[in-house]
Amino acid sequence: MQVNKSIFRENDIRGIYPEQLNENTISIIGKAIAQKCRSQGICSISVGRDGRLSGESLLNSFCNSLVSAGLDVTNVGLVTSPMLYFEAKKNTSKSGIVITGSHNPKNHNGLKMVINDKPMSGLEVLKIIEDLDDDSYEKGTLKHKDIKEDYLNEVEASISIQGSKRYKVVIDSGNGVAGHVAPDLFKRIGCEVIELFSDVDGNFPNHHPDPSKLENVQDLIKSVKENNADLGLAFDGDGDRVGLITNLGENVFPDKYMMMLSESILSDSNGSIVYDVKCSNHLEKIIRNSSGIPIMAPTGHFHIKKTIKENNSLLGGEMSGHIFFNDKWYGFDDGPYSGARIIEALSKNTNYETISEIISSYPQSFSTPELNIDVTDENKFNIVESFISENNLDGEKITLDGLRVNFENGWGLLRASQTSPKLVLRFEGDTIKDMEKIQADFIAELSRISPDIDINLT
Ligand SMILES: [Zn+2]
Repeated sequence: MQVNKSIFRENDIRGIYPEQLNENTISIIGKAIAQKCRSQGICSISVGRDGRLSGESLLNSFCNSLVSAGLDVTNVGLVTSPMLYFEAKKNTSKSGIVITGSHNPKNHNGLKMVINDKPMSGLEVLKIIEDLDDDSYEKGTLKHKDIKEDYLNEVEASISIQGSKRYKVVIDSGNGVAGHVAPDLFKRIGCEVIELFSDVDGNFPNHHPDPSKLENVQDLIKSVKENNADLGLAFDGDGDRVGLITNLGENVFPDKYMMMLSESILSDSNGSIVYDVKCSNHLEKIIRNSSGIPIMAPTGHFHIKKTIKENNSLLGGEMSGHIFFNDKWYGFDDGPYSGARIIEALSKNTNYETISEIISSYPQSFSTPELNIDVTDENKFNIVESFISENNLDGEKITLDGLRVNFENGWGLLRASQTSPKLVLRFEGDTIKDMEKIQADFIAELSRISPDIDINLT
């Protein structure tokens, strides 16, 4: 079977259309997934797609392949990744697949897969493809279903805004698929909604749908200020991540809004909260102060979901903006739902009027965004291994995922990206000076240990 092996990754499948992932490739992937389903006694599956230009054609080929391989397929059409996860929680087979390029460039596409309520790895799909049977099967059936109404009804039932204030929210879907559902969602929960770029357009003509990059939230910041809104929310291309802008137009890193969400959830329930190694030390302290149990986990969907499941945690979150609610929601990451929970937490807070006041009530610290150094997929893990064993940094060392060193006045992190040929770094200090010193110490050690790499932080 002719497939490009590099598209099969630990968490999902991702490739460039049509060079690496095309109608032919996705038909082969469909056969492999059908074989996996048969081995687990699963005979039906739901499938959908995000708003990318290649989505419809890929989805049609994928449906044909699954049906030919004997599965009964429910095509839910245009959906966010979280809507597909929702559908997979509800259908009898607990299985669903969404064709999505997430926040990647517009000519990329990919698949995120849930089989029998568990995430399926791209590497597992590749393994099955290498050992694919060529039996023929009685064709399955294909039906279409619109799940938007069911999804919105459940979101509406889950969210309870306190008090009578009508929150004014600006939402920026960046022409990603969140635009298909987010405006209705925020109207349903009683907000006054100002929309930016809700038209689903795979050319992403306004800005790229990736709110983790500051340049992509400039329109949102401007609109929040101009409209005197209570907050601004931005979603990534497939709607599983959220970015937050305060009423004053400040960009809030996910570990900061996790502080607010943690306090809010722990005021109602007892339990643990999971966060990745890129999050602030102050998040851990705030979870403890609210009588919760903080659990640090490696970065990545798979690890966060697994840790939430093992501990039956109330909430999980990643610095990338993937937030997983497991208290009164289903434990998957959902950008618009997370935005609704931020508004709920704001409405429940009796100490402060505005989201800016809540966020600035947390300990002041100074942190870098996620920083990257370009390396290669071949050497990235070796660089991190050498750094772990040879560095002379003096602090509490955590090797869950790369190396995180906690100091009295901040912390630093160096890890290898799972998804791209990059090193990932982040630094935080109680003062700007502390942050800069920690960063300088890390970089000095890195260039001493791996003198060959070109240290150009982006
Ligand atoms: Zn995404």
